[in-house]
Amino acid sequence: MTEHSVVIVGGGPTGLMLDAELTLAGVDVAIVERRPNQELAGSRAGGLHSRTIEVFDMRGIADRFLSEGQTAQIVGFNLVRLDMSDFPTRHPYGLALFQNRIERILADWVAELGVNILRDREVTGFTQDDNGVDVEVSDGSSLRAQYVVGCDGGRSMVRKTAGIDFPGSDATTSWMLAEVETTEEPAWGLRQDQSGTHAIGKGDGGHARIVLTEREVKSGIEPSLRELSDALTEIYGTDFGVHNPIWLSRFTDMTRQAATYRDRRVLLAGDAAHVHPPIGGQGLNIGVQDAVNLGWKLGQVVKGISPPSLLDTYHAERHPVAARVLKNTMGQSVLRQTDDHTKALGDFIAELLGVDEARKRVAAEMSGLGIHYDLGEGHPLLGRRMPDLDLTTPHGSVRVFTLMHHARPVLIHFAERGDIDITPWHDRVESIDAKYEGPWELPVIGAVHAPHAVLIRPDGYVAWVGDRSTSGPGEALTKWFGSPRG
Ligand SMILES: Cc1cc2nc3c(=O)[nH]c(=O)nc-3n(C[C@H](O)[C@H](O)[C@H](O)COP(=O)(O)OP(=O)(O)OC[C@H]3O[C@@H](n4cnc5c(N)ncnc54)[C@H](O)[C@@H]3O)c2cc1C
Repeated sequence: MTEHSVVIVGGGPTGLMLDAELTLAGVDVAIVERRPNQELAGSRAGGLHSRTIEVFDMRGIADRFLSEGQTAQIVGFNLVRLDMSDFPTRHPYGLALFQNRIERILADWVAELGVNILRDREVTGFTQDDNGVDVEVSDGSSLRAQYVVGCDGGRSMVRKTAGIDFPGSDATTSWMLAEVETTEEPAWGLRQDQSGTHAIGKGDGGHARIVLTEREVKSGIEPSLRELSDALTEIYGTDFGVHNPIWLSRFTDMTRQAATYRDRRVLLAGDAAHVHPPIGGQGLNIGVQDAVNLGWKLGQVVKGISPPSLLDTYHAERHPVAARVLKNTMGQSVLRQTDDHTKALGDFIAELLGVDEARKRVAAEMSGLGIHYDLGEGHPLLGRRMPDLDLTTPHGSVRVFTLMHHARPVLIHFAERGDIDITPWHDRVESIDAKYEGPWELPVIGAVHAPHAVLIRPDGYVAWVGDRSTSGPGEALTKWFGSPRG
């Protein structure tokens, strides 16, 4: 039996990101992945939102994605575009880039970090005891790990085997998706009829990318070319001569969320923990961000720096984020209906989104920039993303995100250190003196007063703010990065 500190089940975007985070934390980790390589059938996610681009920037890999995709104002609510070009971030946009390319870039990065991916086999079961988890693999081998993380997608075997409830609602609508060749010029763009909204867009190499709302709810099985042809004929009066499908797929508005993200030594992340319709393109993004929230915490627990209870903050912080995404996608799927009443509601919402504050709030939520973990009362930065400021340090100029490349916590002092002494944590926390002259501005909130010091967690969220009214960072350092040493 081979031992690893952590076994990740599933090497999609969430599993790959978690793997990288654990590797950066110095943890021995293995991924078991069913697919023989990173190839993906179908296009699935079509892009990255601003906060995910920031997260990649914090690890020094944002340019790999930006150089392959197209930046654009992609945030929207019910087909209303929400321009966020005035947001205080280095990336006030989204990135149009299909999931197969996102996964390939992530897989290349993970390979550079030297990660162990056990491909072309699947995890078939596991049992956990007080000290670890025994994992059964389809090639007949077994693995032993301190922790197992299910990043194995919406039908998660890990979630089911752990007996974790997955409450929510079944599908009420399904959509057929396809990328195909056509002999006739398709009717490009959107079309609405009594069954809903349909769309035909241009894919690579002149292919048509088709999304059709189905008249009857179907799920599970992939549609056939015949079904696609029949549905097109019903909606458009012709099937445009569809042939040679690159892929055919289907998605529904099924909306469910794991009741808990942790059962003792088993954790869930990404689609294994939450499924919802892909409206708004948020699924891949929140999966990657689950991984970044969990990675450093799990790393500290397996290294004995922090107690296992630190892992409960993963559920406490990430469950509400996905719950909001479930809510906004449920709301938007209802608004996809094309009857006059729903259209009237949609028009009314569109008007409201024209109000600047509403635009900012919804865009911040959909892009992930508005995330606020409840870390208690205090300075507005507490529990929010640290902005990527241009700092001047005794060693030269540096961006805050550059300081985060190694996924280690950082304490930045903007004023005299006074009585701040982090010597007992110096093996775990970087400490740096810096000057910053510019404005402090947060999405939606606007300008905030400059702090004397900030403690930034490896996931880029502020764990403690030093200003006139706060005591030292000792309590926050112990809570997040373990007991003082020495
Ligand atoms: C049609 C469609 C359109 C979408 N559009 C968007 C979008 O625009 N934007 C967006 O952000 N998201 C979108 N999504 C959602 C996005 O694709 C998912 O949220 C994302 O793939 C989740 O990543 P994940 O790693 O959590 O799970 P997955 O991508 O499902 O990865 C799970 C991995 O686990 C592996 N696996 C499963 N079981 C086992 C096992 N027992 N043993 C070993 N390996 C296993 C699978 O092979 C797979 O590689 C869309 C999804 C669909 C279906």
